[in-house]
Amino acid sequence: MFQKILIANRGEIACRVAATARRMGVKTVAVYSDADAHAKHVAACDEAVHIGGSAPKDSYLRWERILEAARATGAQAIHPGYGFLSENEDFARACAEAGLVFIGPPASAIADMGLKAESKRLMDKAGVPLVPGYQGEDQDPQLLQREADRIGYPVLIKASAGGGGKGMRLVENSEDFAAALDSCKREAINSFGNAAVLVEKYVLRPRHIEIQVFGDTQGNVVYLFERDCSVQRRHQKVLEEAPAPGMTPELRRRMGEAAVAAAKAVGYVGAGTVEFIVEQPGGYDQPEAMKFYFMEMNTRLQVEHPVTEAITGEDLVEWQLRVAFGEPLPKRQDELAITGHAVEARICAENPDNQFLPATGTLAVYAKPECTAFERENLQGTSARPRIDDGVRCGDAISPFYDSMIAKLIVHGETREQALARLDDALAQTHIVGLATNVQFLRHVVKSDAFRRAQLDTALIQREAAVLFDQDRVGLPLAAAAAVAQTLAREQAGAVAGDPFSQRDGWRGLLASHRRFDFDYRSQPATAWLRYGQAGAAHHLSVGADGSENVSASDLAFAVLPDGALELQFAGQRTRARVYAQGEALEVFTPQGATLEVFTPQGATRIAVVDPLAHAGETASEGGRLTAPMPGKVVSFAVQAGDQVSKGQPLAVMEAMKMEHTIAAPADGVVAELLYAPGDQVAEGAELLRLTQE
Ligand code: ADP
Ligand code: ADP
Ligand code: MG
Repeated sequence: MFQKILIANRGEIACRVAATARRMGVKTVAVYSDADAHAKHVAACDEAVHIGGSAPKDSYLRWERILEAARATGAQAIHPGYGFLSENEDFARACAEAGLVFIGPPASAIADMGLKAESKRLMDKAGVPLVPGYQGEDQDPQLLQREADRIGYPVLIKASAGGGGKGMRLVENSEDFAAALDSCKREAINSFGNAAVLVEKYVLRPRHIEIQVFGDTQGNVVYLFERDCSVQRRHQKVLEEAPAPGMTPELRRRMGEAAVAAAKAVGYVGAGTVEFIVEQPGGYDQPEAMKFYFMEMNTRLQVEHPVTEAITGEDLVEWQLRVAFGEPLPKRQDELAITGHAVEARICAENPDNQFLPATGTLAVYAKPECTAFERENLQGTSARPRIDDGVRCGDAISPFYDSMIAKLIVHGETREQALARLDDALAQTHIVGLATNVQFLRHVVKSDAFRRAQLDTALIQREAAVLFDQDRVGLPLAAAAAVAQTLAREQAGAVAGDPFSQRDGWRGLLASHRRFDFDYRSQPATAWLRYGQAGAAHHLSVGADGSENVSASDLAFAVLPDGALELQFAGQRTRARVYAQGEALEVFTPQGATLEVFTPQGATRIAVVDPLAHAGETASEGGRLTAPMPGKVVSFAVQAGDQVSKGQPLAVMEAMKMEHTIAAPADGVVAELLYAPGDQVAEGAELLRLTQE
């Protein structure tokens, strides 16, 4: 086996690869950028080499630096992880030329599968079923239009070099085709430097089911079954599971064999994934009617590989290292089997209620459920505990330089139902404070009827929007009770610590037996009145929305548990709540003017305790300024100076952290000036355009 490898990546996948290497007795070398000088992946490896600035093009994409680091440290092989250089055929070739083993497929296989159109042509020859479409070299717009008309609408135009859910346009009818083609080509050039497109039939209500394949240098190829990745937003995966619900052994075998044929057609070696789009003409309940078509092959380890590890008990990184070293595949097809059901949730820094806008910030609180890290013995569901693969620690920053994934939570159960229950439990115990995340959104998806009943297709999130977005599962009464209880608990703790002035309880006889709290809850004012109970008696709390009407009033009882959580009883509800103050050190929790994050088993919410005097009239609008919500790149403007716009109308598109974000007009007005051009890099808060309001 190799003695030392270099991991040309960062974050969770670098940590993941390092864990297997360590177990196998292989030394590891990390590489890191300026922003990652203190990152977890650096600590996870035996050695580390600084390779440049924070932007990927200055570090993780600079292969001459990476090759130099490998030479300097005596690494024999390079694991590229996913993203960055993993699907770069030139890099794979440069490794070989430098006498290093690239832990991945041969450069020729990356090239064959690198472009969607070419790979479809190859797959056609290998007899792999394709989505009906046009993938020819001739890119004459009139020809493409005729092909689209022949295929029949709706069609999807795809950038042949595209990836990451980008460079696709859905076209509903013939009249819209020309404009969509133009815009797709523009994006293809900008994002991938290659204008070639293909046209495909747009499959309605499809599922995304992919097959994990593995090949070795002796020409053996096996499949490690399927993963269902249908739950997507913006064509990007959110939840992945294995096996695919409703899959029949017969369909699994056919899809597996098609994937193996695809891999063999390009002389594949190592870990790869063949992605299929699956039509469900019989609806969700008729898997026998499902038809699958090749979409693309990803020539690397996939983000969602842990669900395959959980159901097969195999360590895919170990397989990668063995195969790259020249060993045969550890198992034959007939030695592989599925046990139980596994689900992975991608925890991302983003705001689902605001079009999944990516978020940056510091992980002020990062509390995880009791979990296993990546460990061999926990691969298969011998443990009821979830597995968490992450590359961050409490206090780390999620920066704008890399993508927004914070962690992956993987659960296993004997059945899908059990796995989902474990997933919800694990998500409920995942507390992240300091930036927006999708944790609660994931819980809503997991608990939705559609997902529970496995009514899966790629539009599930849009379809179920009503129960997924802007949800309030905690409610004002409980949120206010938790905030009040936490305040009292802190004050009592302060008193114990010997500060007489923090001992509000002691003052209450002198001042008043009532106390008022003003809140801001989901952008609405709310008030709570606390009446202190006599010694030994319960406190009484009444909570009202809009400063007046009582919505709830009852005794309030609480106890602080050893782990700092509150056991809370109010208005007929008994629950556990964990309350964190946002935006400041948790020890200097101040009841006035703090935003509290409240986590309960039902859900999580945010409630601000406001000082009614200090905050009066502070929310005046910013007028006509339209600023970048995060650092990123201006993709396009939808308006020009002088245009009349109405409230909500899209004005500009920005791209950051792999996501596009539309900036809409906050009010009716006239565009006075555009302050940047498409392609410009802008800082957070930069003014993008000026709007004159009428
Ligand atoms: P998977 O199918 O494994 O989920 P994704 O398409 O989500 O793959 O991408 C996996 C990783 O590859 C991402 O986290 C990112 O690092 C990288 N990646 C893929 N495509 C792009 C792209 N167009 N731009 C930037 N990064 C990309
Ligand atoms: P990427 O390289 O960005 O991952 P893919 O070709 O794998 O691009 O497609 C990404 C997603 O787009 C799929 O998972 C699926 O949700 C959707 N998609 C792709 N092709 C089709 C199609 N022909 N019909 C319907 N949806 C599609
Ligand atoms: Mg894909």
